[in-house]
Amino acid sequence: MSVYNFCAGPAMLPPEVMKKAQKEFIDWQNLGVSVMEISHRSEPFLELAHKSEESLRRLMNISNDYAILFMHGGGRGQFSAVPLNLHQEGKQAVYCQTGTWSFSALDEANKFTQTQKFNIRNDQNSVASVIPVDQWQLPEEASYIHYCTNETVDGIELFDVPKHASAPIVADMSSNILSREIDVNKFDLIYAGAQKNIGPSGLAIVIVKKDLLSRPGLAKPGIFDYALESKQQSMFNTPPTFAWYLAAEVFAWLEANGGVAAMEAHNRDKAALLYDFIDNNDFYQNNIDTSCRSLMNVPFLLKDESLNKAFLTQSQNAGLLALEGHRSVGGMRASIYNAMPKAGVEALVDFMFKFSKEHK
Ligand SMILES: *Cc1c(COP(=O)(O)O)cnc(C)c1O
Repeated sequence: MSVYNFCAGPAMLPPEVMKKAQKEFIDWQNLGVSVMEISHRSEPFLELAHKSEESLRRLMNISNDYAILFMHGGGRGQFSAVPLNLHQEGKQAVYCQTGTWSFSALDEANKFTQTQKFNIRNDQNSVASVIPVDQWQLPEEASYIHYCTNETVDGIELFDVPKHASAPIVADMSSNILSREIDVNKFDLIYAGAQKNIGPSGLAIVIVKKDLLSRPGLAKPGIFDYALESKQQSMFNTPPTFAWYLAAEVFAWLEANGGVAAMEAHNRDKAALLYDFIDNNDFYQNNIDTSCRSLMNVPFLLKDESLNKAFLTQSQNAGLLALEGHRSVGGMRASIYNAMPKAGVEALVDFMFKFSKEHK
């Protein structure tokens, strides 16, 4: 029986990458030792670091106006690092609110800087929706504008990028980085915890416009200091080398499989299959407006919630893992990141169809 892992994070990684990592686990590049057991300042590791950055630049078309940092502390580490680095005296940081993760980012920022909560949800008749980006009336002055491009828990994705005349645009892309084509030039700072679409947890990728590195911000730990990390090639202290290695392997896998454009087509295809099935079967429902449905995280409810437990047990027995929704929203959630093959979504839809027939 095939097993498909729908976990929201840490999420499945491409099986090809996992097999390669297994093969190289105790002897990397014929060194006779693991990549985990060598100095981050040794030549082979420095080459890995350099190549991974070049690979990510090609994948996302990132110009030399941006620095790329490989940092510690995952997504939430960046919830702290962003205000610490971008704080400006006398200005407020604007936090656009779309769901669980953007609420948490605001909570963390409140410890360090003056914030302004900016609500952009526009729910109607219990259907979740977001005000179109071109209608946001953002304040004229701000130290920066923060938003989340994909709300992993709520299943809400924003496809347009907000604009601001003077304030930098900062995006939490933890759960949709590399899943579809974006124009990096529309952003000033992009960050992502690695464990959804890139690699193991703990690592965070930061793509930051170099002109932001001269902002003094606030006093901060060295490991969260963008300017320092940029100057030190992300090696102010020992970086998470094994996570970095796996991220590099995932980037190489992406490049070998057609890059982000091919991933986007694959992801749109998978998401359409699942949403179409849910919309056309009155046993299930998804309460997100079609304009902002996530391509990565698909929450759904059984109309008869008393069947939730049976659904979870039977799906797990069928090899479909981790479909339980986040504890804060309940119901079900299928996370279908880059590494999820279409066959996984087909197996899920088959199971859901059979389950609905059996419990009619
Ligand atoms: C998972 C996630 C985070 C938190 O990541 P951690 O590495 O657990 O801190 C932040 N933002 C988004 C959008 C996420 O999906």
